[in-house]
Amino acid sequence: AVETQQELLDGLNEPQRTAVQHIDGPMLILAGPGSGKTRVITHRIAHMIAQGIPSWQIVALTFTNKAADEMRNRLKKLSPGNLSWTGTFHRFCSRLLRHYATLVGLQENYSIYDMKDSKKVLKQAIANAEIDVKHFSADKIGNEVSNLKNHGVSVEQFIPRPGNVMDKILSKVYPEYQKLLQMANGVDFDDLLLHCVDLLRNNPELRESLDLKYTYMMVDEYQDTNRAQYQLIRLLNHNVQNLAVTGDPDQSIYGWRGANLNNILDFEKDYPKVQVVRLEENYRSTKSILRVADQLIENNVRRKKKSLITQNEEGNAVKLVAFPSPQDEAADVADSIALAIQKGKRRAKDFAILYRTNWLSRSFEHTLRQCGVPYQVLNGHEFYQRKEIKDIIAYLHLLNNPDDSVAFERVVNVPSRKIGKVTLTRLQRHARENSVSMLAAARDCEQNDTIKKAVGNRILSFVELIDRLSKQVGDEVEPVIRNVLAETGYRDWLTEDGSEEAYERAGNVDELVVAAQEFDNEHPEDGGLGRYLEQAALVSDTDVWESDADYVTMMTMHAAKGLEFPCVYIVGLEDGILPHERSTGNDDEVEEERRLLFVGITRAEKELQFSRCLNRFRRGSYWPAIPSRFLMELPRDEMEIFGAQHQQAGMTAEDLQRTIDAMDISNETHYEDLPAIDINLSDAANAATGGTLFATEAEDESDRDSSDADVQVPKTKPS
Ligand code: ATP
Ligand code: MG
Repeated sequence: AVETQQELLDGLNEPQRTAVQHIDGPMLILAGPGSGKTRVITHRIAHMIAQGIPSWQIVALTFTNKAADEMRNRLKKLSPGNLSWTGTFHRFCSRLLRHYATLVGLQENYSIYDMKDSKKVLKQAIANAEIDVKHFSADKIGNEVSNLKNHGVSVEQFIPRPGNVMDKILSKVYPEYQKLLQMANGVDFDDLLLHCVDLLRNNPELRESLDLKYTYMMVDEYQDTNRAQYQLIRLLNHNVQNLAVTGDPDQSIYGWRGANLNNILDFEKDYPKVQVVRLEENYRSTKSILRVADQLIENNVRRKKKSLITQNEEGNAVKLVAFPSPQDEAADVADSIALAIQKGKRRAKDFAILYRTNWLSRSFEHTLRQCGVPYQVLNGHEFYQRKEIKDIIAYLHLLNNPDDSVAFERVVNVPSRKIGKVTLTRLQRHARENSVSMLAAARDCEQNDTIKKAVGNRILSFVELIDRLSKQVGDEVEPVIRNVLAETGYRDWLTEDGSEEAYERAGNVDELVVAAQEFDNEHPEDGGLGRYLEQAALVSDTDVWESDADYVTMMTMHAAKGLEFPCVYIVGLEDGILPHERSTGNDDEVEEERRLLFVGITRAEKELQFSRCLNRFRRGSYWPAIPSRFLMELPRDEMEIFGAQHQQAGMTAEDLQRTIDAMDISNETHYEDLPAIDINLSDAANAATGGTLFATEAEDESDRDSSDADVQVPKTKPS
C-alpha cells in the first residue's frame, strides 16, 4: 500500500523534509556526502505522487543506471504503480530521440554506437576528409570531437579558430563524421545528448510542449553535468521551472569528461527564484572517517567551505598501511576480509576495495579467490565488448537498422564467406558515390563492374541471408538471436577448433541468449529488438553490480560515486596512481584527483583503510613507489599507521624529495629506456577512464598509446 504522507516524512530531518515537501519552483539541494540527497529525491517523488501529481509528469535523472534502478526499486516500495521516469541522461535522451528521430535527420530505429564502433566511423571520416592529419592520432581527433559535443557545440555552431591546426582538421572531419553517422542512421554516445539539445533548440513548439509535459524534473549529482546536459535541462525547464537538483561541488569528478562545476555554482544565477536547501548532517560515516575526509578536502583552494557533521559514533581510527609489495597488500587485505567473515563479524558484501584504475584489481581478485571470498569486479561493460558478443549484436543491429554500415562491415565476412577487404573497399566506394548504405551497395553489386561475378554471388547470398533473418524479426528478441546463430552457422564456426577458448566464447553466446530471454520476460509490452539494442548499448559498468548479493565489491572510485559500504579499503595510494600521472599537470587536475579520493573516503560507513606499497612491479622489475601526496594531508596523528616504513607515511615534502633523489627516479628518461611489461591494455585503458559509461573511444585509445602500463611510476616530482 502507498505509505501515508506522514510515513514518507518520518525518517527525514528538518531540511530534508523541507526539500521533500517543496513542489513548485526551482530548488537546489546543496550538501556533502551521505547527507541524504539521493534519499530526498526518492522521497520527494513519492511525496508528489501521494499529493496526486500524475507520476508521468515526473522525471528524475541520475548519473548511473544503477542509481536509477535503485531509485526505481525504492519507489516501487514507496509508491507502487508509479510511472515516473527515472534513468540516466543517456537513456532519457535515447527515448526522446526515438520519438523525434526524423526531426534531427535520423530514423527511429537508429543504432547507438559504442566507442569501438564510433572509432571506425571516425577513421573513415578522417580518410574521406583527405587532409593531412599526420601529427594527430585518430584518438586525439576523436577526443576533440567528443569534447565539442560535450560542450554542446554542433557542426553548425563550430567556428574554427584561425591558425589553429586542430580546428582546421576538425572543420573537415567533424562534419564528415556526422555525415557518415547520419548515413548509417547511427549516433555515438555524445550525440544522444547533442541531438536532443538540437531538437529542442530548433523546434520551439516541441520544446515548449515537452517543457510542460515533464512538469517536475530532478537531477541527482548535478555537479557532474556537462555543458550539453546543462543545456538540455535548461531547455526543458524554461517555462515551467519545477526543477530540483542535488549536488556537492566537492564530489565533482568528471571534469576530464567535460563536466562543468560552474553548472552547480551558477544554479542560483540561472534560476533566480531558487530555494536553496542545505543538508548538514551526515548519516553514513563515523566521526573519525569524516574528519579524515574533511581535512583532505580542505586542501582544495577552489571550493566553498563546508564541514561535515554527524551524530554517528566516533568509530575506529582510520588505518594507513604501507606494504612492501603489491602482493603483500593484496594478501593482507584479502586475509583481513576473510578473517572478519570467518569470525562472523562481517559479511562479504560489507566490503569494498576501491582503486584509481582498473588494473589494480587483478592482484586482489587473485588473493580473494585464494581465500575463498566471493567478490565482484566492476570492470566496465566488458561483456558487451567481447568479440563474439559484438558480432551477434552487430547482426541484430543490421536487422534492426539496414543502413548500419558499421554493423554490415563487421559481419559481412563473419563467419567467413570469402568476402575480402578489397571487395569491401569497392562496396564502400560504391556506397559513398551513390550515397547509399553498405547493404544497399551490396544489393546493387551486379551493377557494380568492379566486383567479379563469383564474389558478387557470395555477396548476394549474404544479402539474402539478412533479408531472410529480417523477415523473422518479431516482438521477442531471443528467437531472433537463435535464428541468427542457426542461419549464419555462427555457433558452429565458433566452436570449430574445439579449443577451450572456443567453448568459453560459445558460453558467452549462450549467456547472451539467456539475457535476451530475461529481457523479453521483463518487457512484455515495451520490448522488441530496438529497445533491446538500446539497453545493450547503454549498459554501464555499475549495472552489473548486485548490491544485495553477498560479494566483496571491487571498483574504481569513479564508479563508487553515490554508493556506501560498511568497510572500505582504498588501495594503491601512490603518486602516479592517485593522483594519476596524467592528472598532475595543473592545480585543477590535482584538485579533481583530491575530490576523487574524497569520494572514495566518504563511501565508508564504519571502517576505512588506506594502503600503499613501497615497491611496484613495472617494466619487468620492482621500483620504489612514492606515497601519494594526499596521504600527507591527512590527520595522521589520529590515524593508526602500520607498515614496514611507517614513518615514511608521515614524511615531509623535503623528506620526500630526498627520498626521490636517493631513488634516482626523478629522471624521466631513465624509465623511457626500459622495456615495457606486458599488461592487459584493455584494462589499463578502462582504468584511466574509470571504466565509465561515456568515456569516448578516443580517451580509451589514447590511453593505450600512452604509457598506461607505467602509471605506477611517478614521472613528475611532487612539488
Ligand atoms: P552521496 O553524496 O554520497 O551521494 P547522499 O547525500 O546522496 O550521499 P544518501 O545516499 O541519500 O546520501 O544517504 C546516505 C545514507 O544516510 C543512506 O544510507 C540513507 O539511507 C541515510 N539517511 C539519509 N537521511 C537519513 C535520515 N534522516 N535518517 C536516517 N538515515 C538517513
Ligand atoms: Mg547520492
